[in-house]
Amino acid sequence: MLGRKQPTPKDDNATAPDAGPIVQPGATLRLTVSFMLVVVIAFIAIEGWRTWRDYHAAFDAARDSVTNLARATAQHAEDAIRQVDVLTAALSERVEGDGLQGINVPRIHELLIQQTQIMPQLHGLFIYGPDGQWVVTDKRVTPDTANNADRDYFQYHRTHDDRNVHIGEVVKSRSTDELIIPISRRLNNPDGSFAGVLLATIKLSYFVDYYGDFKIDDKGALVLAMRNGTLLVRRPFITSVVGKSLADSEIFKNYLPVSNTGIAEVKAVIDDTDRLYAYRALTTYPLVVEAGLSRESIIAPWRHDLWKTGWVLVFLMVVLAIFGLIVLNQLRKRMLAEKALRHAHQAMQDMAMTDSLTGLGNRRRLDAVLIDEIRLAKRRGSSLALIMLDVDHFKRYNDTYGHAAGDVCLSAVGRAIAHAIKRPGDLAVRYGGEEFTVLLPDTNHAGAAQVANDILQAIRTLKIEHAGHPLGYVTASAGITAGYPATEQISPGDLLKSADAMLYQAKQKGRNGWCSTDQHAP
Ligand code: GH3
Ligand code: MG
Ligand code: MG
Repeated sequence: MLGRKQPTPKDDNATAPDAGPIVQPGATLRLTVSFMLVVVIAFIAIEGWRTWRDYHAAFDAARDSVTNLARATAQHAEDAIRQVDVLTAALSERVEGDGLQGINVPRIHELLIQQTQIMPQLHGLFIYGPDGQWVVTDKRVTPDTANNADRDYFQYHRTHDDRNVHIGEVVKSRSTDELIIPISRRLNNPDGSFAGVLLATIKLSYFVDYYGDFKIDDKGALVLAMRNGTLLVRRPFITSVVGKSLADSEIFKNYLPVSNTGIAEVKAVIDDTDRLYAYRALTTYPLVVEAGLSRESIIAPWRHDLWKTGWVLVFLMVVLAIFGLIVLNQLRKRMLAEKALRHAHQAMQDMAMTDSLTGLGNRRRLDAVLIDEIRLAKRRGSSLALIMLDVDHFKRYNDTYGHAAGDVCLSAVGRAIAHAIKRPGDLAVRYGGEEFTVLLPDTNHAGAAQVANDILQAIRTLKIEHAGHPLGYVTASAGITAGYPATEQISPGDLLKSADAMLYQAKQKGRNGWCSTDQHAP
């Protein structure tokens, strides 16, 4: 019903809630969400990097551990065998010197007992004749039927004349039933013919005990094997795996042929466990050690940490989500409250600038808009027109029909005016009493005259009975002014004053018509 949809002008009496540089709720929301995203991404990035680093650190540490373990077990095996090597070398020298036929059995027996007691790894010392018959041992009793001609090492020495120490596969002792590693040498007669075998046996338990002392987890493995792959000792120790061949394992097949020491991450053939192994071939003897830590045990602490981090992350996300929802909720409430406040404020402003009788704007609205429009017209170089209207002989109308009927009449006139103006930018207000004003932006004299004609015609067309009017119905008069604020000095007061002067002239000229400041106007 208002003359135009008017952007709310600044009003001195109103204090707008959105006035001033306050942070908008939408911006706060974006800021909050961005902040939470940054926190989560930063946390994930930092934890991801830390986790990656820890993973590699765990494997680096494991590499050091298995290397050290392999080094220690290799040294241990080498020392144990070297001692026996040296001992058997000395003993064979002695026995060969005496001649196996003329050997002093009780004296050599005592000597063997003495040597066996000195070396903890030794299970026994044995001297066999050329037919495999037991000649002398460190044992108190010699089984009558004992004959070792069937043993691999015996066969070997009988057919090979090399004088080196020979390390055999694990066998079960005929004297004690213990598992032993045979270390043997060939004994020669002075003419170089085969005189028999000197055998030193090493207790498997010597290695088993030593390997058992290392602090490695259940899945860790320590292996002592012959260079051909035959397994001698293993931790965890199971009797059934002794003698198994590792020749087809990756380390024996692919790694050892290339390098005597190294690290390999492989699946164990014995128990199908993924391990990080350090392997080492002994330098003096054809033996190999392997020390392995299971992949599982290496990453277990890391994985535990990962879980913890995961839970912290989940917790953080949940807290952030809850926090976010609370903030979101608060913001939504605030936004709603502000919207309601803005609406209320708008409604109040509209009310303050609306004429309650006609629903048109009031004088206050005109005052506010006029300043803006003059400024706009000045900037655009466009013309601005103002029409002032006054109902003719309205005092008489009131006197005839009463003030209430007068109000009804004014309301109808207001509607007619609002209807007559066409452009969205045009503004019609009730200026006061039975006076109306129409502001026409971007309109010259001719255009304003056209609008004034339309309005006056619209009022006449209402045909509101007016007994005190010479024509018998309600009419109005109009004063028109127009100008170019860009080229003329035009103030709101000037416009109103000159329109009012023209209105006065129109009244003088007999009413029901208009007068314009334009000299060329009819
Ligand atoms: P003219 O303008 O043609 O010279 O004659 P007029 O009778 O209209 O003269 P004037 O402008 O002096 O009279 C205005 C009258 O309008 C005065 C008052 O009785 C009446 N009036 C002013 N405001 C209202 C109003 O709000 N309601 C009613 N019913 N009458 C009003
Ligand atoms: Mg008047
Ligand atoms: Mg009047």
